[in-house]
Amino acid sequence: MVFSSVLGFPRIGANREVKKSVEAYWGGKIPVEDLQKTVAEVKKYNWTNVQSRGVDLIPSGEFSLYDHVLDHSAAFNAIPKRYQGLGISDLDVYFAMGRGRQTGGVDVPACEMKKWFDSNYHYVVPELSDETDFKLVHNKALVEYNEAKALGITTRPVVLGPISYLVLGKPAREAPASFEPITLLSKLLPVYKQLLTELKSAGVESVQIDEPILVLDRAANLEKQYASAYAELAPVAPKIVLTTYFNRLDANLKFVSKLPVGGLHIDLVRAPGQLDEVIAAVKNTNLVLSLGLVSGRNIWKNDFTASIKQAQKAVSALGSDRVIVATSSSVLHTPVTLASEKKLPDQHRDWFSFALEKAAEVATIAAVVNGSQDAKIAAALEENKVSIAKRREFESTSDDAIRKRVAAITPDMYNRKSPFAARKAAQDQALKLPKFPTTTIGSFPQTKEIRTARAKLGKGELTPAEYEKFIEQEIQNVVAFQEEVGLDVFVHGEPERNDMVQYFGEQLNGFVFTQNAWVQSYGSRYVRPPIIVSDVSRPGPMTVRWSSYAQSLTKKPMKGMLTGPVTILNWSFPRDDVSRKLQSQQLALALRDEVLDLEKAGITVIQVDEPAIREGLPLRRSDWDEYLEWAVDTFKLSTAGVADSTQTHSHFCYSDFGDIFTSIQRLDADVISIEFSKSDMKLLHTFQQFGYSNQIGPGVYDIHSPRVPSEEEIRERLKASLKIIPDHLMFVNPDCGLKTRQWKETKESLVNLVAAARWARENA
Ligand code: GLN
Ligand code: ZN
Repeated sequence: MVFSSVLGFPRIGANREVKKSVEAYWGGKIPVEDLQKTVAEVKKYNWTNVQSRGVDLIPSGEFSLYDHVLDHSAAFNAIPKRYQGLGISDLDVYFAMGRGRQTGGVDVPACEMKKWFDSNYHYVVPELSDETDFKLVHNKALVEYNEAKALGITTRPVVLGPISYLVLGKPAREAPASFEPITLLSKLLPVYKQLLTELKSAGVESVQIDEPILVLDRAANLEKQYASAYAELAPVAPKIVLTTYFNRLDANLKFVSKLPVGGLHIDLVRAPGQLDEVIAAVKNTNLVLSLGLVSGRNIWKNDFTASIKQAQKAVSALGSDRVIVATSSSVLHTPVTLASEKKLPDQHRDWFSFALEKAAEVATIAAVVNGSQDAKIAAALEENKVSIAKRREFESTSDDAIRKRVAAITPDMYNRKSPFAARKAAQDQALKLPKFPTTTIGSFPQTKEIRTARAKLGKGELTPAEYEKFIEQEIQNVVAFQEEVGLDVFVHGEPERNDMVQYFGEQLNGFVFTQNAWVQSYGSRYVRPPIIVSDVSRPGPMTVRWSSYAQSLTKKPMKGMLTGPVTILNWSFPRDDVSRKLQSQQLALALRDEVLDLEKAGITVIQVDEPAIREGLPLRRSDWDEYLEWAVDTFKLSTAGVADSTQTHSHFCYSDFGDIFTSIQRLDADVISIEFSKSDMKLLHTFQQFGYSNQIGPGVYDIHSPRVPSEEEIRERLKASLKIIPDHLMFVNPDCGLKTRQWKETKESLVNLVAAARWARENA
């Protein structure tokens, strides 16, 4: 029989219960027992609902209070030294690693976060060294398996595999920079052995071990480690389903198919073409093949007819007992349920499928492949055919004006009028900024008052005019604050934005919105990605009103603030019927018009954020060039229309883009601001090494944590950066927007930042 499986489920709760509870706990408003109660309820909701949709293999152990990679570090005692002996509970140590802690005499910054493969989820990077004392302090997979069992639900525990865990890590501070965490494999394996042995003794039949790095080029060098690790683990473990996702296995398939595991999961949404190859490779083994047919990354209803065909192909080659129909990855990257959407028009609702609906999808596909005679299954299949046909029909209609405009893009539209040096001279003249100009990345704290006002507007309790007054007042406050603190390039604070992508999507044609479709980005930060359903265009100006209002309040330059085409695309659920390139070009043309409207309205500094440009990079190197070409081009298309004297900025959140350096240069923004690299100055060295020519603001402190950096700390950071970046090219700024912060810490931090910049003007 073909089984169905879901690889992991959102851990936020259908009504964001986990966020609310975790934040209340952090704020000291509820005791830990209340948090535990919420967590137990959410897990129960997940298990019972996935089960009631008919799924055979239900995940457990992947729930997380902050991040699943951090869960492994905590469970394995991989706690960096600076978090040890703080005299706080294990749970608080865990949260301190995730978000930093600055209370009761404890002052530690957060661990580094990185994007989880090419998704918008962030994981907490394990810090490892020869001194890491691995031991199993907590068998989370077992605990959750037993919790589910107590509810009468048999689950399949999920564990991140040892090799992926190590490769996703980085050298701890005490280790040399060249230290390779993978060298700790033999020390880590006993922990996995114990973990898996305990699962087996508890009666667990099969365990999902995630080894997503198997889809990366670098796994090619890890064949030996894979062979020896899994030879050691398999005998003591329940049946292992080795799980890969987000891309194709490619050449790694050769050794993967020989590993002594019970099953292999592949992503057929990202890489449908690999099915034949994989079937051929596993045919003469006993491996069960888990087919990732239902997307864990997007929200489109699955096309059952196509999936059934794929599944049948596998069944006829391997037999039904060796096939599982599954989600492509964890459905963590999708919202919990469509049932929470009360306002979606029926036409749109009919196109989508969220986490719980995806659970039903894998179950239905499996049932059809199993030859189910159930009338409900037949009806579901029929309904699916009708929905898919309707969507295809809608997709075939396009906006001819936009398509023509895209076809008419000429190469000169990608380039500024003059090279950087000439622009810099024009901007120095026009803007008259001091040396080490200070600025922020755009948003100021999104307070409860702001969110309440927005909610009231939504409910009709505030009229649009009242709401606009309120936003104007917020902008006045932010401008006054910046005057007081003494910043040089102002921002309006983005109080009118619910989110940097959603805000634009709501004003563009071609997007659909949800009420409740939240997806975890990191820790307790969730986002609500809009959905691109058709050709994108701009009906009218989107930000000009607020930027020009803000500019009218001050003589300092007011930065116009936009989100770039690649980021809007990457942080939305994209269409899957046309290329990402086309969607990005359409977005870029809309933004180009906005940039020019801002300029016309007297805005002389314009920032177009592209924090997601790096995460959109394909996982396989051979796919990079194609992506980078259109990604960089569309960014340039959106910004290059302005005069030389208009200063363009861009912002990136991801520190690890040394390897796409030439593309960052090719963006040709006048100023870029980049993330604070917590570990070292490696990134800046890369910029120096390649001779980055434009201006750059290395984030001088980490805004993802509530901790306030001292003036001294920022000075040190500036001094270190100045060894690498010429002083006339340097901007001083935090490393990201301040929307998630409170005003108190924002003020204290920015006062220190301005003081440090002033110090630099005198002394550096
Ligand atoms: N301008 C945005 C802000 O400040 C940028 C956010 C981001 O890079 N994630 O909020
Ligand atoms: Zn950022």
